[in-house]
Amino acid sequence: MIELPAPNPVTLARRANIAAAMRAVVPDGVIGDEATLTAFDCDALTAYRQRPLLCVLPANTDQVAAVLAYAARENIRIVPRGAGTSLSGGALPLADGILLGLSRMNRILDIDFENRCVVVQPGVTNASVTKAVQAAGFYYAPDPSSQIACTIGGNVAENSGGIHCLKYGLTTQNLMGVELVLMTGERLRLGGKHGGDGGLDLLSVVCGSEGLLGVVTEATLRILLRPPVTRTLLIAFDSVRAAGETVAAIIAGGIIPAALEFMDRRCIATVEAFCAPGYPPDAEAILIAEIDGVPAEVGDDAARIDQIARGLGATELRTCASEAERTCVWSGRKAAFGAMGRLEPDMLCMDGTIPRRALPDVLDRISALSDQYGLVCCNVFHAGDGNLHPLIVFDCMRAGELERAEAFGADILKLCVAVGGVLTGEHGVGVEKKGLMGEMFSDADLAQQEKLKCAFDGMGLLNPGKVFPTLHACVELGRMHVHDGRMPFGNLPRM
Ligand SMILES: Cc1cc2nc3c(=O)[nH]c(=O)nc-3n(C[C@H](O)[C@H](O)[C@H](O)COP(=O)(O)OP(=O)(O)OC[C@H]3O[C@@H](n4cnc5c(N)ncnc54)[C@H](O)[C@@H]3O)c2cc1C
Repeated sequence: MIELPAPNPVTLARRANIAAAMRAVVPDGVIGDEATLTAFDCDALTAYRQRPLLCVLPANTDQVAAVLAYAARENIRIVPRGAGTSLSGGALPLADGILLGLSRMNRILDIDFENRCVVVQPGVTNASVTKAVQAAGFYYAPDPSSQIACTIGGNVAENSGGIHCLKYGLTTQNLMGVELVLMTGERLRLGGKHGGDGGLDLLSVVCGSEGLLGVVTEATLRILLRPPVTRTLLIAFDSVRAAGETVAAIIAGGIIPAALEFMDRRCIATVEAFCAPGYPPDAEAILIAEIDGVPAEVGDDAARIDQIARGLGATELRTCASEAERTCVWSGRKAAFGAMGRLEPDMLCMDGTIPRRALPDVLDRISALSDQYGLVCCNVFHAGDGNLHPLIVFDCMRAGELERAEAFGADILKLCVAVGGVLTGEHGVGVEKKGLMGEMFSDADLAQQEKLKCAFDGMGLLNPGKVFPTLHACVELGRMHVHDGRMPFGNLPRM
């Protein structure tokens, strides 16, 4: 089970005063009644729930700055939230914290084709960025499967990826600048429309910082011209191993498809029953490969993928003949997480990334762990990046199942680290994986990361209880002594 920082009783007792102060700042955007607050009690990691102290929905950057400055003065914790689609519990509220919802800040501020960028507020959804520029032939490349709901602020905080990140990169490769409000209410501008920047690369630090360093109130995003040709292939295999080997061989052959996605038999059947994308019913595994570029390059890559896949035992290879067919194939992949609701009411989505050559062995091991824990696990993932998403389905209401699912998930992530991979490819650490950070980072690594956090948020008020396994107050970092079981500086708030 996850642990959140103990609520501050002083803050809890002052709830009515804090609500009044927040109404003075955001008159039309404070939610305080318990019934409505319940709607905000979890993100997409629904196994963990906590009603926030209050929910505040600012409409502009001045209001964000005023809320944060007030919270810093009054020692109140803040949890930023976009659309609440985090799969790692990054936007899970705190009982004594203000949930700062950025969804009202949803304007596209500037579309600049000359500089190939778009400037947006943080509550703009990922899909709206492409929608705003597609008539001119442009698009925004990072495309999480949650893209119709998730916000750019959340994408920046999680360094989100998606199906097309193999070739075009994650958010960090497509982010040119941000405006960031610090806990003090001060504003920073990092990067911008220009290329390059002086000073330390703080933009890269902020991207993926999971709401721990500041609140993103504006983002400048790189947009790309749609390639002239896109071809989508659906390749079936009669073994998971053959599909895994094909992924490794395609990349080793020097081909970088725009997307290279994997699904196993159980996932194929569940998705098929959910939205009928027409996947081969008898396949043990499928790959969806998408290649784009100029016609000659696409034709050549498609022929080589065909040759590699058939050489490694592909049983069927289809090329989508129309845009409608392509949309249909992708609709199944994008609906895969939601389709798991047909199997069980609850799901943990793991997010480890491994070196591609380890794919076949790791998939075999996950299957053995599934038997060992007696829990169903479906595999659907960004195979080209080695970014696994084992979906463990279970029912929280059955005694002990959540704990078993957590232990199963932890074993998968430890396995990813053991084969040379990492705990998270794109979903962030949040509350879900913070207990496993020690598997990947030394004490010195973690202390250094926490010191960076302190440089942005010295009081540890921004999204505490996420990412770091241990709560430290900034003043004690690097000299932590516990005497008679008592922590030093017990009166100070801890991150
Ligand atoms: C069905 C489904 C499919 C998904 N598919 C993908 C996928 O393909 N690829 C992928 O990468 N992810 C995927 N996700 C995960 C999720 O959608 C992403 O992590 C997304 O970026 C979260 O955005 P959000 O607006 O919902 O943020 P939230 O969930 O609200 O917040 C996520 C984190 O960002 C912080 N945050 C939010 N807004 C701000 C801000 N303005 N400033 C500072 N911090 C902020 C929060 O504190 C929290 O730590 C999927 C989720 C679901 C439910």
